[in-house]
Amino acid sequence: MPEKIKHFNYLFIGGGMAADQAAAGIRSIDSKGSLGIVSADSDEPYARPALSKKLWVDPEFTEDDTNFHTKEKNNAVLFLKTQVTQIDPTKHLVTTADGIQFSYDKLLLATGSTPQTLAGPDSDLVVALRSKDDYRKIRAFSSAHKHIIVVGNGYIGNEIAAGLVQNDVQVSLVISGERLYDKKFPIYLSKKYQQKYIDAGVKIYSNKRAEKYETQGDQVKVFLNDGTVLKGDGLVLGLGAKIELELAEKAHLKTDKLGVIVDKNLKTSASDIWAAGDIISYSDAILGRQNAGHVNHAVKSGYTAGQNMAGKETSYNHTPYFYSWVFDVSWEALGAVSSSLRMYAERLQHSDGSVIYYFDDNDVLQGVLLWNARINLDHYRNILKKKPHLTDLEKILSLEKVD
Ligand SMILES: Cc1cc2nc3c(=O)[nH]c(=O)nc-3n(C[C@H](O)[C@H](O)[C@H](O)COP(=O)(O)OP(=O)(O)OC[C@H]3O[C@@H](n4cnc5c(N)ncnc54)[C@H](O)[C@@H]3O)c2cc1C
Repeated sequence: MPEKIKHFNYLFIGGGMAADQAAAGIRSIDSKGSLGIVSADSDEPYARPALSKKLWVDPEFTEDDTNFHTKEKNNAVLFLKTQVTQIDPTKHLVTTADGIQFSYDKLLLATGSTPQTLAGPDSDLVVALRSKDDYRKIRAFSSAHKHIIVVGNGYIGNEIAAGLVQNDVQVSLVISGERLYDKKFPIYLSKKYQQKYIDAGVKIYSNKRAEKYETQGDQVKVFLNDGTVLKGDGLVLGLGAKIELELAEKAHLKTDKLGVIVDKNLKTSASDIWAAGDIISYSDAILGRQNAGHVNHAVKSGYTAGQNMAGKETSYNHTPYFYSWVFDVSWEALGAVSSSLRMYAERLQHSDGSVIYYFDDNDVLQGVLLWNARINLDHYRNILKKKPHLTDLEKILSLEKVD
């Protein structure tokens, strides 16, 4: 028999970055309604980006500094290590793996993403980085002079490889492409970026795929598709992440290939259920229907969803950006940033900064990358909004075609 049902005016499934801001959104309007946050995570909501960046390169910055203090700031009740397994939208009931039941007036679904992994046995020496627990495991196996294998050419793989090598760890980085970020950056930037890793001592295995791993005692063996076997003291996987849609699908919420479908107020197809963060399929004011697995989106959509849950009717009309930084490079991206598009560079004077403009086959602007270019992003949002043609931009900017 389930124990007594716990009721909340506002109930969140997921205690991540969107949930933290949704709590603030609710409290900006309703200071009294009860708020419960149910999270599978072992830790209170925290800044996830620090797990692959700041915690590795700033000795003054500790795990505690990443905490948002969501519970204290927003008078919330937090249930950690609690996995929700079912939502009943008709009865307004949520059930957990332990058989606990919660009822709600209004529900937020903010379950984020789960990282992809590789074939091999469960082991503390193998981490697909997403949570603080994962970060702690990497810390445990990656002291100075250990050899760590990192697989993946996305931001997680690249960031953690940079973080580790700056802690005197020997790093082998396995990437499926020719160079780091060759699917995003033009060749000259991808080369510059890769050189930072080589100079720092990272050994790069390009054009290779990791197929499986095995563990033996305190060693990991990684098998690459060309027959190479790498041996290390730990393995970090940055193979991309899959959005957590299972709960929504089981509850018959409308979904599409991008995620849980929400309207302009971030409401799902079920009454009294909103969604925010990585899992939503939403209509972006500039880019059209989108899914965005980014901090800026999690924060902004979370806050808007929270406000709407508390009774405001506000549209989510923010076009989010993605950012990353490693060594002395920082970059931000708006819209479609893919080297399969037609790319034009504006090289900034007096710095090594560049702005890359990405055009489709009709020469209409689709995305902008700011590489070491600290310029107000709103400026580029406004440009992107106008969907300019290459010839319009060439009249006002000095652009050079790049591959
Ligand atoms: C290491 C790392 C570095 C990153 N760096 C950057 C960066 O530099 N720039 C950037 O823009 N983005 C970055 N991101 C992405 C960014 O952190 C995410 O887009 C953001 O956290 C998404 O917020 P969210 O609330 O949707 O999901 P999350 O923050 O992932 O939170 C989801 C929460 O839901 C919980 N949950 C899932 N399923 C259930 C369930 N069934 N029951 C209960 N709880 C559940 C999880 O435990 C978690 O607490 C990074 C991500 C990682 C992992």
